[in-house]
Amino acid sequence: LGKELHIYREVSSTNSIAKQMAKSGAREGTIVISGTQSAGRGRMQRKWFCPPGKGLLLSMLLRPKISVQFIPQLTLLTAVVVAETIKKVTGCTAGIKWPNDIYINNKKVCGILAETSFSRTNVEHVIIGLGLNVNLNTDQLPPDCKDTGTSLSIELGQRVSRISLLKQFITSWDEHLQSFMKEGHPYLRSKWLENNVTIGKKVSINKRDGSLDGLAVDVSEKGGLIVRLSDGSLQEFLAEDVSLRNN
Ligand code: ATP
Repeated sequence: LGKELHIYREVSSTNSIAKQMAKSGAREGTIVISGTQSAGRGRMQRKWFCPPGKGLLLSMLLRPKISVQFIPQLTLLTAVVVAETIKKVTGCTAGIKWPNDIYINNKKVCGILAETSFSRTNVEHVIIGLGLNVNLNTDQLPPDCKDTGTSLSIELGQRVSRISLLKQFITSWDEHLQSFMKEGHPYLRSKWLENNVTIGKKVSINKRDGSLDGLAVDVSEKGGLIVRLSDGSLQEFLAEDVSLRNN
């Protein structure tokens, strides 16, 4: 990962730039980084904000040879790598909230967004973007996220080097990807379970047609969340269909 690295001061979104590069044949593992984004995206048309130079805004281009239904595993793998990166560089314990957020002390420090392009039934490429709050102070968090968001510097009380985070992210990605390719879902599941803050918690699943309460019990091979509903049945939810609140 990162043998080819494109660094910008400002772009619309790093995922959009990486997607353009993918279409013009950029190599697997290409990374796009930007100091800020004018149109950073989250899931479901939500926005991701970061003031210039304060975050690690990064997208990577992957050309995985796995079938479409397993692509969400790559989001889970990215979350494991981000949690490890934060731990190794800062010593802070970060937890993964299914499917795509990283939390420290119950506050969101990083969001992850995977976008897949298909040709017929084949996966052409996957772009995985992350927005990690590194050196933002509380006033620099988006107004509606001041109570729910945090940054590494807020948690540590000191600045953190974005270059160190980038280097560690690349090293950890290569290591975990190699093990994942060899051992598959059991490897991913065990690493994800070690680092998550969702399993064992009561959750509300918000679907387009209403919400359901249950207990999060496991993560599936499709990267879905397995929940025990109040009637005792187990149901799998996929990230594209739902959003989740820890109760
Ligand atoms: P879910 O919890 O269902 O994954 P989400 O609300 O976490 O949904 P994301 O797509 O992960 O959605 O991220 C977008 C949301 O993150 C925005 O709606 C906003 O509330 C919040 N957000 C945006 N920028 C930041 C930031 N720099 N730090 C923390 N939170 C942010």
